[in-house]
Amino acid sequence: MVRVGDHERVRDPANLEFTKHQMQDMLEAVGSRIVEHVGSLSRQEACGDNEDLDFVRAMKEPAPEAPVALESILDRYFNEWVHRSFNSASPGFMAYIPGGGVFPAALADLIADTTNRYTGLFASAPALVQLEANVLTWFREWMDFPPSARGLLTTGGSMAGFNAIVCAREHLLGHRISKGTLYVSSQVHHSVVRAAKLAGFQPERVVSVAVDGRFRMCPDALARAMRRDRKRGLVPFLVVSTAGTTNTGAVDPLGAIADLCAREGVWHHVDGAYGAFFYLCRKVRALRVRLAGLPRADSLTLDPHKGLFLPYGTGALLVRDGQLLRNVHAIAAGYLPAAADQEEFYDPHCYGPDLTRSFRGLRVWLTIQMYGTKKLRTAIEEKYHLAHEAAAEVAKIPGITIDAAPELSLFAFHVDGGTVADQNRATLELVRRIARRKRVLISGCWAGDRYLARVCVVSFRTRRAHVLRCVREVRHVVASLVRRRVQRS
Ligand SMILES: *Cc1c(COP(=O)(O)O)cnc(C)c1O
Repeated sequence: MVRVGDHERVRDPANLEFTKHQMQDMLEAVGSRIVEHVGSLSRQEACGDNEDLDFVRAMKEPAPEAPVALESILDRYFNEWVHRSFNSASPGFMAYIPGGGVFPAALADLIADTTNRYTGLFASAPALVQLEANVLTWFREWMDFPPSARGLLTTGGSMAGFNAIVCAREHLLGHRISKGTLYVSSQVHHSVVRAAKLAGFQPERVVSVAVDGRFRMCPDALARAMRRDRKRGLVPFLVVSTAGTTNTGAVDPLGAIADLCAREGVWHHVDGAYGAFFYLCRKVRALRVRLAGLPRADSLTLDPHKGLFLPYGTGALLVRDGQLLRNVHAIAAGYLPAAADQEEFYDPHCYGPDLTRSFRGLRVWLTIQMYGTKKLRTAIEEKYHLAHEAAAEVAKIPGITIDAAPELSLFAFHVDGGTVADQNRATLELVRRIARRKRVLISGCWAGDRYLARVCVVSFRTRRAHVLRCVREVRHVVASLVRRRVQRS
């Protein structure tokens, strides 16, 4: 067993290094726990006890003065803490936009953290930074962006969107920032509105454009809004469209919006945090058509921790004209080595606001190495087909209306009967009851005056059996809701 506080460290109180033996023991202790945990995920509940706040209150504690044994911490983590959660690693997790947590990324994090080289600057670890550069080049190629494109691996989609807004602002507004207006649909992810605020735009400068009956931004309404604002002396500079909205998975008409932006001289950012990686599945005709406008974007958010199955902590931004991103961020400092030759190499600190940062390129790189692109693409494609199969099955359930058929791998529906308020209540109850049964987890959302249940299939662990399980859960709970209604009336 691992005992922190071996006698040699007691003799040398400032020594924080562990012996080889100790490290091996710790790796074994951690390794056996995680292998057991991951191996039992399909048997674990999709949703744990998140309600016991007394338990959480009791967790507040002072920092320990003396070392605590790793074993006892692992015991508590795996037995007491980790299950108090939405089990976002579970194959039954189809709520929100599921993440993943592929194993190669975890290995990469361990390797990156233990070797701990400085990958904020090309000059300090050129070979390692090149791995991250390769990842960005692959993303660029996958998304059919031109060679001029550069990008950035971020902590998530929110930060990718933020960097895109700043880039568009710097390029198109400069000192006119107070007049700048940006356009989103009513279905935009809230992180975009927050990012706009961080970038200096008050909420009244973020114009919400109407959507059509399938929750997609209306290009005509967008054009009208821009015309109206120009007349008022404002300066439209940016449209943020979404390739896969969080509510219903809608893909905005990317091509039409790109056309309009080109005519108006406005930056077009596509938020593909959920949807961008579906662009890899070009063999699926519907996807090829729906996402055809994606490579025309001026910038694109991708979220490897959603659509590429990585564990949380990795988003990405691509900017079509990489020089514009560099113009925002590249600043020399007397204490830093010169930036790398930008024609040939990639220097992360010239393309984003971070200097010191985790080596997140390695987790993406190792994932792509260990699976190969084909397998990843096949898995993404499977999620598309599974969501379609599930939606077709749910549509057959008496008492259900599909509000949004899957465009990617997310669909939304409600429970019929009575007024809209009755339907909302029943749909809310459906989502709640499914959660309480703990076999699968789906979530709901408000879209206008409607509460919709939504199923999103994008965890790599969610396979056909789990999706069919989800359909059975919906069927079962809807039947009991309808029975209850019949008994009442
Ligand atoms: C998840 C999501 C975001 C935010 O990304 P984070 O990685 O959570 O920061 C933005 N837009 C859309 C459409 C999303 O689904």
